[in-house]
Amino acid sequence: MIVVKTKEEIELMREAALVVSKTLGEVAKAVKPGVTSLELDKIAEECIRDQGAIPGFLGLYDFPNTLCMSPNSQVVHGIPNNTPLVEGDIISIDCGAIKNEFYGDHAYTFEIGEVAPETKKLLQVTKESLYVGIKEFKLGNRVGDVGYAIQKYCENHGYGVVRELVGHGLGRKMHEDPEMPNYGKRGRGKKFIEGMVVAIEPMINLGTQRIKQHRDGWTITTLDNKPSAHFEHDVAIVDGKPELLSTFAYVYEALGIESDEEEEFRQKAFVI
Ligand code: MG
Ligand code: MG
Repeated sequence: MIVVKTKEEIELMREAALVVSKTLGEVAKAVKPGVTSLELDKIAEECIRDQGAIPGFLGLYDFPNTLCMSPNSQVVHGIPNNTPLVEGDIISIDCGAIKNEFYGDHAYTFEIGEVAPETKKLLQVTKESLYVGIKEFKLGNRVGDVGYAIQKYCENHGYGVVRELVGHGLGRKMHEDPEMPNYGKRGRGKKFIEGMVVAIEPMINLGTQRIKQHRDGWTITTLDNKPSAHFEHDVAIVDGKPELLSTFAYVYEALGIESDEEEEFRQKAFVI
């Protein structure tokens, strides 16, 4: 069952999403060679609590930490540990928080120092595919339209689109209906309606789309051990159009990256 949100609830959800956006920004300041994912996890937990919010992942389905930290060939759901990050790594950092009784859920894949050009390209294309998918999240479209757009964009670059893990509706629960796969067929699946809020999160592999689960019951890696990228935004349908609730602005500020991707996204007229 899809739980639609009122405009007032969407504003409350924006606050939850922004808690996560700011937290990723704080984490971004500390992401460098030598830091461990457990140290970053501590920064995130403090930052969330300082904002009067609650870590959304901690204890959810018994997950042990605040952040899912998935380096290199790990796709998602990696558990923070004491291994220092090294130059050339990438790491997907996925963060959730509860504020106003709503969840925010938002992820960015970071580069540690200089990374291989083909990995850099994977990150760029995966992030672009996020916006390509979000554009299709509008009144009159269906779940398959978002998945189709992401899949086509990434497969055109020769990448593997993970099938087993998907985006999702978001609200008072972390995972609500509908599931939002990053693959699909145009015009198929549930129809989008005003007030829907979803987390769209392409998980894209440099090589094969196939994955394996580790014995810890959480960590997912690519079957060929090639790198995997992951970016996630929270998006609502407001006045028929997709509206970003989360922002990478804090991450970009921390990293000194000039980016107008979100502004560009907002300014483009989305004809319904
Ligand atoms: Mg997430
Ligand atoms: Mg999610």
